[in-house]
Amino acid sequence: MISIGLDIGSVAAKGVLIQGGRQYQMMVPTGWSPRTAGEQLIDDLLQSSGHRPHDVHSIVVTGYGRVAVMEASRTVTEIKCHARGVAELYPQIRTIIDIGGQDSKVIQIDSQGRVVDFAMNDKCAAGTGRFLQVMANALGLDVSELAAYEDPEQAATINSMCTVFAESEIIGLLAQGVDKGSIIAGLHLSVGKRVAAMAKRLGIAGEVAFTGGVAMNQGVKRSLEQELGCKVLVPEVCQFTGALGAALIGLDAAA
Ligand code: ADP
Repeated sequence: MISIGLDIGSVAAKGVLIQGGRQYQMMVPTGWSPRTAGEQLIDDLLQSSGHRPHDVHSIVVTGYGRVAVMEASRTVTEIKCHARGVAELYPQIRTIIDIGGQDSKVIQIDSQGRVVDFAMNDKCAAGTGRFLQVMANALGLDVSELAAYEDPEQAATINSMCTVFAESEIIGLLAQGVDKGSIIAGLHLSVGKRVAAMAKRLGIAGEVAFTGGVAMNQGVKRSLEQELGCKVLVPEVCQFTGALGAALIGLDAAA
């Protein structure tokens, strides 16, 4: 049984192929064509695992670009896929925070990994990966470098909620000579506060799992822990959690 899960996101397209106990992962930029990104991922996964297209039993696709992938056996929401992925990685977890490129979500799940409730911010870039990408750019850094520069002891106050105004505010702080590490700590705190407020409104139970590309940023993880007052677990495959869940949903359906 070979199952492929694809998560065609706003920034990155992620794919997981599961065969027996083996897993293969691939990621490509989504670019302008979610369809091409999906085709590329399927080709790459087949090549790295040494399989041919007719060996594959199921291709479950999630993410904003899911409807564009013609090879899909089925499409499933990101919420269900993250829930299934986290249930596999951390069976004890009941609350998930997912921060991707263009939205942030809080998902409550039951002991079977079924979605009980969720909240989502997809209206405003603040509190998303895109916000951090724009701010990293203003600081002359790549988003992957932010956490290494952070100075948690000296967090600058970032007042603006709007991405455009926050970018101007940062340019102003740099001009005043404020240290980059302080600005970055302030940015991480502003993302953490915003997403934690959404999680608190929905209600959290026990420890929290943090998924999506932004979970690679230790500074955001720290600020979520500070704001939520609980431990935040980040899977090694945080950016692949949705794709993993999609591949597992394909396997579940065949069982
Ligand atoms: P989407 O599914 O919308 O494409 P992802 O879950 O793939 O989103 O996350 C993309 C976001 O992850 C980017 O906007 C960026 O902020 C963040 N990101 C990507 N790579 C890194 C990294 N190496 N370190 C920290 N953050 C990262």
